[in-house]
Parts: sequence; C-alpha cells; structure tokens
Amino acid sequence: MPALNNTTLYRGRFAPSPSGALHLGSLVAAVGSYVDAKANNGTWLLRIEDLDPPREVAGAADSILRCLEAHGLHWDEEVSYQSQHHQYYQQSLQRLRELQLTYACDCSRKLIQQQGGHYRGYCRHRQVTAKQSSIRFFNHQPVVEFDDEHYGHIQADRAFAEEDFILRRKDGFYAYHLAMVTDDIRQGVTHVVRGADLLQPSACQLSLYRALAASPPYYLHLPVVVSQPGRKLSKQNHAPALNNDCASVNLTRVLTLLNHAVPAELNGADCASILHWAVGNWSRAKLPASYEVLIPKAENS
Ligand code: GLU
Repeated sequence: MPALNNTTLYRGRFAPSPSGALHLGSLVAAVGSYVDAKANNGTWLLRIEDLDPPREVAGAADSILRCLEAHGLHWDEEVSYQSQHHQYYQQSLQRLRELQLTYACDCSRKLIQQQGGHYRGYCRHRQVTAKQSSIRFFNHQPVVEFDDEHYGHIQADRAFAEEDFILRRKDGFYAYHLAMVTDDIRQGVTHVVRGADLLQPSACQLSLYRALAASPPYYLHLPVVVSQPGRKLSKQNHAPALNNDCASVNLTRVLTLLNHAVPAELNGADCASILHWAVGNWSRAKLPASYEVLIPKAENS
C-alpha cells in the first residue's frame, strides 16, 4: 500500500443513495471514509446518489445530511446531487458512443435469467432499434483483477466482471456505474472507501475508467455489518434508522466494529472528540480481515 504523506492528494467521498435513513451499516461507510480521509489530510466530499427516483424516499436526502451533521461528520465543499448532473452522464455516454463502446439492447430481465443470469452480449451485433431499449457497455477489455487497499489482490467473479453492463436503462435513467465513475472522475476523487458489498462492482467500474482513459482511484473496502451471517443490515432488511440523540454511542459502536475501540476515558465524550481520537489512531492494518462483522445480539437494534 503506498504510504501517504502530506503532499499526496487525497479526495475521498461518501455517496449514499436516498432510499431511506442511514443505519448502523451505512454509518460504517460514512465513518470509515471520513476518518481515512482526515487521517491522510484529505478532503471528504458528500454526494447524494439520487439517480433512481422510483427507489427514493421523500425526505431521505435531508435526513441523511442531518444525521451526518449530528454525528460530527462535516463534509468539505458543496453537497453534490446526481439528479442535477445528468448532462455529465450524457457526456460520458456520448464519449463511449464515439469510441463505439455502446449498443442498444432490448433483452428482458426474464430472458437474461433464462440464459443463466449473466448477460452474454446477445445484442452486440443486432442493431436494436426498439424504442424501449437500454444502452449497454461493450465491455471488450474487462478488468478482472485489481488491488484493494484493505483486502489485497482481488480476482473478480469473471461472469460478473465481463458482462456488458447497462449504462442507461430502458426507462431512460442512467445506471449506477456510469454515474458513479463519471462523478468520481469529475470530482477528482482519488480514494473510494465503502462497504465490501461493492467490492465486485469495482471491477466493472475499473473497466469504465479504462475505457474513458481516466486514472482510477484507490479502493478501500470495509466489512459489511450483518445481523446474522450473510444478512446485511440494509434499508431493504428494515435496519433501524440511526437515532441522532445517541450519536456518540453510534460512533463508538461503529469504531468498535472496525477494531478501533474508543478508550474508556472517552466514555460520554462528544462526537468531535471521538472523531478526533479516531483520526489520530486510525490504522488500516487494524481493520477486520473478514468481509462481514456481526453486531452483538444485545445491540441488534
Ligand atoms: N450509492 C451507493 C449506495 O448507497 C454507494 C456508492 C459508492 O459508494 O460507490 O449503495
């Protein structure tokens, strides 16, 4: 892992989707990305990934902002909202089109399921003209391995990494990989710190960086919080929203899950003091080696 010094540029970010309030699992990504950035004299950006209106919950974006503030996680620069940046995604799509790396596809999800669940490039040479078609990435030079700053050398699942994934959906919305990569390039993000559930998708994102001839960021994935093995805390699993009145306790729990137990003398301390301690004592080497961390039963709320 390259040692960072004071002159190394570090721009990190937290990029929640406003599909619900933050929970303990999302706080791991928020705290991990914040502390890693600040421990390296970096900038920490906040980007609201409100790209998928059908999945959004009214008021969630504001509640995320308030929750981060209540936990002392103050972002640098202006909050960025993906819903306001469609023109940049269009530009990336256009660039890929010029490079002949896009094509239209009208395959249904059902058809892809019948073919084994992975898209095999069926429409690559079909010249689909249907109105209801998605736009796919012609992933002819897929990235299938990369280094993660925490988990080391990653060999991605080939069937997944080699897929011609969607850039723009049938309903006209831009897809996550395209928007995320476009924004991370545009915002000069150098370090992506997030949950290990996004480890495999990094391969697809790296293929886009390669196609767009942009330098990729460092990736550092953090263990995912589970309530029982394999059961990730998530909005879909009805993980309880964080209680802002217990912000310093929440921070302490998250840091403990990341093997950075806050010393007893900070019991009852405010968020700023806990985060200050975390930044001063942060060590990537101490992060749990596993892909999942289990919250103790008694704390399972
Ligand atoms: N918006 C994504 C999510 O909430 C995270 C994106 C990322 O960190 O790359 O799952």
